[in-house]
Amino acid sequence: MSPALIAENIAKVRETIVECAEKSGRLSTDITLVGVCKYFGDEVTRMVAEAGLFDLGENRPQQLWNKASSLDALPIRWHQIGHLQRNKVRRSLPFIHLFHAGDSMRLLVEINKEADRVQAVQDVLLEVNVSGEEAKHGFMPDEMDAVLEECAGLSSLRVRGLMAMAGLHSGLDGAAAEFESLRSLKERLERSKPDNVELGELSMGMSRDYHIAIEHGATIVRVGSSLFEGIPRT
Ligand SMILES: *Cc1c(COP(=O)(O)O)cnc(C)c1O
Repeated sequence: MSPALIAENIAKVRETIVECAEKSGRLSTDITLVGVCKYFGDEVTRMVAEAGLFDLGENRPQQLWNKASSLDALPIRWHQIGHLQRNKVRRSLPFIHLFHAGDSMRLLVEINKEADRVQAVQDVLLEVNVSGEEAKHGFMPDEMDAVLEECAGLSSLRVRGLMAMAGLHSGLDGAAAEFESLRSLKERLERSKPDNVELGELSMGMSRDYHIAIEHGATIVRVGSSLFEGIPRT
């Protein structure tokens, strides 16, 4: 019952992505769906992967460690989408395909140091606080030129793009404006950025607003609840 329902929900979200991409003259293959399984444990997460969705996002590092260990037979690409404390960097990095929540220079320096220590290069996104809400993590837009300069000097860090969350109280029109501001920030930064910093990825949009984020250039959408409609949370 649940596996079929999850597969159906995933198919619906993928269809929505295709429709939205077409509407805005984009290729749906340029948009990565990250399935956010943070509301569920191993069993349901396994069903999502077995339905063929292998880009999975976790918010809390503890859950990432547990799931990555117990589901390590599956070819899952784990995305850490939530804030990471510096003291959890060492334990988390080996699992993380793409880190979405690069929200302070101190954290990025720590990630670079740890990646360097194990002779790896870590792909990261820089989180930007586009809503201006105080409770939100992330850099302010006007800090970003300096942040990119500093990141360019961190040789075990590979910046791949920007990430943002719409404000909790922004509503859908507000979300649209915030997504657009992330896109225009990206376009502005691309003209002056250091060569070894890439800004191709825009991670934005969740269940309630990913259709809007795609219209505004999202290349990665992070969708949780919509994948689990009809599945009771345990
Ligand atoms: C939980 C979460 C999501 C997914 O949210 P839904 O509303 O369940 O789709 C996306 N991004 C981040 C950073 C999250 O914490």
